[in-house]
Amino acid sequence: MAARNKIENALEQGKGILRLSPTWVPRVFCVPGRRIKLHPDDYYALGGERGGIDERWFSSTTPADNGPKTAPNEGLSFVVWEEGGKIERVLLRDAVAELKDDIVGARIWDKYQAWPVYSKFFDNQGALPHHIHQRDEDVASLGLRGKPEAYYFPPQVNNHGGDFPFTFFGLNPDVTREQVMDALKNFVKGDNKITNLSRCYRLEPGTGWDVPAGLLHAPGSLCTYEPQVASDVYAMFQSLVNDQIIEEGALWKDTPKDKVGSFDHLLHLIDWQLNVDPNLVANRFMRPKPVHDPEEMRGQGYEERWIVYKSAHFSAKELTVFPGASVTIEDGGAYGMILMQGHGTMGVWDIETPALIRYGQLTYDEFFVTEAAAKAGVTIANPSKSDPVVMLKHFGPGNPELAL
Ligand SMILES: [Zn+2]
Repeated sequence: MAARNKIENALEQGKGILRLSPTWVPRVFCVPGRRIKLHPDDYYALGGERGGIDERWFSSTTPADNGPKTAPNEGLSFVVWEEGGKIERVLLRDAVAELKDDIVGARIWDKYQAWPVYSKFFDNQGALPHHIHQRDEDVASLGLRGKPEAYYFPPQVNNHGGDFPFTFFGLNPDVTREQVMDALKNFVKGDNKITNLSRCYRLEPGTGWDVPAGLLHAPGSLCTYEPQVASDVYAMFQSLVNDQIIEEGALWKDTPKDKVGSFDHLLHLIDWQLNVDPNLVANRFMRPKPVHDPEEMRGQGYEERWIVYKSAHFSAKELTVFPGASVTIEDGGAYGMILMQGHGTMGVWDIETPALIRYGQLTYDEFFVTEAAAKAGVTIANPSKSDPVVMLKHFGPGNPELAL
């Protein structure tokens, strides 16, 4: 009961908006792109053997899966607030478990009993191997969920494009199953050349892509804002990237035990029509779209755009509040928020965008807005004479504002 009271205090203090602390995640297999505002001395703050920090997770109730060395609570967001002059904290996951629909809204709580998505910055200096995220039906027997994801490349964190700002998606329309099967069988023989069967696209800051489960993709090196379903399932189909060999275990990750060794099983993970779609760009590329009439929005001092809008599993908006403006924005559901630029206030909170963050430091750039607060409308004021306030907001499944 004490825990419940505490979280209620946090909710009361923020008037329905929870302040979160930064959640940094290291990856052994990645080289940080150093674009996520972490202090240059802190990219290896967890020690060399844990790898560099190249991810920051937002509004996460999902633990990171980094093998046996994963730290307790790695990947999980904390709610922070002040009580008696002292900082209190509780996991967002526990806050949601206690206060349920008071945080995520009845529509989401009744169906998922959780906050079933999160978003992250993915900041990798190099390219990633061509891989696939399983669909629900592929991993249901393991008690896991499939993982659709989406990308948006915020200009504020893309001062450089990294080593390979191009992403491979899907397979060429004339590729046969036999060709893919050969590449999979060649996985342990060196370079299996699976990207020879695919096409890559130059990535453009300020745009994004929709990546349903079952679509092969080899993410490029732009710093990526990535809303996704709360799941970490994948299978790596490319054996060599950046002249580094991918170990065979990654090919069979999240494969049911009795299917390990079955290349047929791997082939079945591919949603074939989705991968060979000749209209892949038209169907999966996302240029931002205005949420309301652009003239009307500008007249009121802001501009809001859908940046992720092709998935039923999640969606995201970019809100810009012009210098000197104060606006009240209503949304149809709860959301996680990260501030990209500017400073001001959001509800009762001061908000600001740090230029540099030490590992372990608290910030005022990340919040979770409850459904009730989102529906009532959140007032954002920008006192600057020159700098816009820019924030990204990710929503859960079935956003009522998007007809999908
Ligand atoms: Zn992926």
